[in-house]
Formats: sequence, C-alpha cells, structure tokens
Amino acid sequence: MRTKPLLIIGGGISGITAAVEAAEAGMEVILVEKQPYLGGRVSRLNRYFPKLCPPQCGLEINYRRIRNNMRIHILISSCVEEITGIKGNFSVKIRKSAQYVNDLCTACGECVPVCPVERPDELFYGTRRTKAIYIPDEITFPFRYTIDGEVCLKDNCSECLKICKYQAINLDARPEIFTREISAVILATGWRPYDARLIPELGFGTGDRIVTNVQLEKLDVRNLFKSVRPEGSYPVIAFAQCAGSRDRNHLPYCSGVCCGTTLKQALMIREQVPESRMRIFYIDLRVQGRNEDVLTRVQADPNIELVKGKVAGATIQHPGGLVEVETEDILSNRKIRITADMLVLATGMVPEQLGLEQVRTLNNGYIDASSLPDGFFAVGNAVHPADVSTSVKEATAAVLRGLQVVRLADRR
Ligand SMILES: Cc1cc2nc3c(=O)[nH]c(=O)nc-3n(C[C@H](O)[C@H](O)[C@H](O)COP(=O)(O)OP(=O)(O)OC[C@H]3O[C@@H](n4cnc5c(N)ncnc54)[C@H](O)[C@@H]3O)c2cc1C
Repeated sequence: MRTKPLLIIGGGISGITAAVEAAEAGMEVILVEKQPYLGGRVSRLNRYFPKLCPPQCGLEINYRRIRNNMRIHILISSCVEEITGIKGNFSVKIRKSAQYVNDLCTACGECVPVCPVERPDELFYGTRRTKAIYIPDEITFPFRYTIDGEVCLKDNCSECLKICKYQAINLDARPEIFTREISAVILATGWRPYDARLIPELGFGTGDRIVTNVQLEKLDVRNLFKSVRPEGSYPVIAFAQCAGSRDRNHLPYCSGVCCGTTLKQALMIREQVPESRMRIFYIDLRVQGRNEDVLTRVQADPNIELVKGKVAGATIQHPGGLVEVETEDILSNRKIRITADMLVLATGMVPEQLGLEQVRTLNNGYIDASSLPDGFFAVGNAVHPADVSTSVKEATAAVLRGLQVVRLADRR
C-alpha cells in the first residue's frame, strides 16, 4: 500500500521544520499555509535572538531543503476545512483561494507601477502600503507576486494582465476545494499579536510615536529619528513590558519572548542610532538559556536603563508631540513621569484559531494538546508561546511521532 502523506497545517518556522525533517526521513508531506508565502511571523522579524541574525539565515536554508525535496507538496493561500477518519487513514478537505498569479511569475515587478489600488501591508503591521499586486518581502517563498483579491478591481481594471509578458496572471481564477488522504496531522498554526487597542490607557492608536514590539521589528528607526530630532540631541525610547500580559483583564499568561525581544530591540536601536537612550520598564525580566547573554549585554550598556515598574499610562499631548509616560520605580518606591520620543509596547502573543472539530482549546485559547485524537500533534506557538528554538525542537519531535503513525499504518 502506498504511504499516505503527513499533513502539516501552518507554514511558519514550526511547520517548515516539520516538513523538511519529515520529508528527509522519507515521508510525503502536504504543507498547508493560509498566507501566499511561507515563513510565518519569523519572516516579519528584523533580526532574531539569540544570535541576532536576520530571518534569512534561518529561513533560507530551509527553503533550499524544500526546493531540493520532491516529497514536500506546498499549498499556499490554502486552509483545511475538515478532517475525517482515524489515525493512519484520515481524509482532509482543503480550500485553496483563487491563484491570480501563477508560478510563471518571474517577479520582474512591471505590474506594480500600473496597478491603481493600494492596501495596508499586513507584513509590516500596517506601517507601509503596497499595491493590490505585491510581493510580500524580499525573502518571500515562493518568490512571486500575489494579488490581494479583496481589493483588486479585477474586471474593471486588468492593467497588470496587459503588461505581464509571462502569462502569469489570471484574473478569472476561482477557489478550488479538494480532498487528500493523509496518515497524520501536525498543527503548527502559530500566533498573532495581542491587539494593543484593547489597552487604551497605553495610548496605542493615538499617534505614530506609540508602537508595538511587532511594528518596531519592521520600522526603519535610523531614519525615523533623524526626521524627528534636532541635530545634536538624542532620542529617548521607552519600552513598556507586559503590555496587556500577566494581566487578568487581558492576557493572564506570560508570552515568554517579550523580555528577550525588548532587550534585542534595545541593542538594535543602539546599533542603528548610537546616541539613543532607552528606558525599559518591566515587572520581571524573564530570559532563559542563551538569551541571558542578550540581557548581560544590555546591563553593560550605559545608554540602556532597566527600571522595575509597570507603565500605568501613556499620552501624546498634541499631534506629532512627544509621549508622556506615567510609571513607577518600584526599587526606589516612587511614581515617575518621563517624556519619550517613542514608546514601544511589548504586547504578548495570542494563538491563531483553527476551527477543526477535533481540536479543543484551553481557556487561554491555545490548543489543548492532551485532548487531541490519535494521529494529531500540535507544536510551537499553536500550543504555547514559544521562541524559535523551542518551536523548532518541538516540530522535530512531532515528526518522529508522525513517522511512527505512518510506518504503523504502512505495516497494516
Ligand atoms: C515582537 C516579537 C519578536 C520576536 N522575536 C523573536 C526572536 O528574536 N527570537 C525568537 O526566537 N523568537 C522571537 N519571537 C517569537 C517567534 O516569532 C516565534 O517563536 C515563531 O514565530 C514561532 O513560529 P511558529 O511557526 O510556531 O508560528 P508562526 O510564525 O505564527 O507561523 C504560523 C504559520 O501558520 C499559518 N497559519 C495560521 N493559521 C493557519 C490555518 N488555519 N491554516 C493554514 N495556515 C495557518 C500562519 O499564516 C503562519 O504562517 C518574537 C515574537 C514577537 C512577538
């Protein structure tokens, strides 16, 4: 009997890792990703700890492994609608959104100037705009343009179709629904940022100077401060840790990565804007293992001050004005107010929801891994907040368990 593939839902670093490890161990893999590109949230990072390397260094090597492996079948812009059956013998119903741009696209980019429609760029958390036909990023995989079907004018425009020399565009494309037989399922659906607008006292949305940690990853801070600061002065950046986290009214849990992320971001800003001064307001500093090296570097930096105290409020006095940050300094037992050029809210992570009958979630929204049926495995940020290294380890471990299911099904 022919071995049925392993299904992986989610093409972030967890899902990609599971796909390449499984395929290199001999399994057929179907990797389903709802976005038009792989890479998940890691592709939206500037650099990542512990080594502070750009996302390319982790992703590109995996993309090469994917390109070299015929056993991995990637379905981008796709979602799983239903899974039926039992371990070793499942059937999965997949919905693939309309593919307006096919793989004949050479990414030449000639379609972009003629496209009349703009959209906020979700990859840049709305801080940048793209045309309706766009390439998500320079490290996008697969490297080709995509059309945002929600905003494209389609029949009333077709300028991109007219200019494309490669027959890569089909504005009449329709969604497809099909089924596949599979043996086991790895859930790697990851996370999204907690919505900072739900914490109104921290002022998010009242001006450009209050941003979230995910937005900061994609901001060009060097140029940003050049434009707002008079020559000879230095910018002050404040960080509010646990913005909504470890708070019964928002996220009761710790997202585990926000402290490491802020420390990383503070070092990155210092590198790009050497004269900058930073103040990090925290409840506790939680960094583990190799990430402690990043803390040590921050502690040794005279321009970065770590202040134990939770930010209570932030306001922008007038449009374009500085941020007034109201906080406390627990160790000296006093309330303080500071003025900053920018306030970064270290918001936590919330799990993406999957909507499959077999998948139950805990009160905090994460998948309850202990209640999954046989043949289902959940990894990375689908199960709990986790950094890249933890996600990769869990994905590799899940492949071993998936392999056991596939091999047992083969022997029957
Ligand atoms: C601001 C910030 C900075 C960070 N910096 C670092 C760092 O420097 N170092 C570090 O180690 N970690 C960092 N992290 C954590 C890191 O982002 C995560 O560890 C990593 O993204 C986990 O990968 P994942 O594959 O589990 O999830 P994701 O990256 O979220 O990938 C999940 C994928 O699944 C897809 N998906 C979701 N639902 C579905 C569905 N229903 N069907 C199909 N596909 C679906 C998504 O589109 C996505 O592509 C940071 C986190 C934050 C908040």
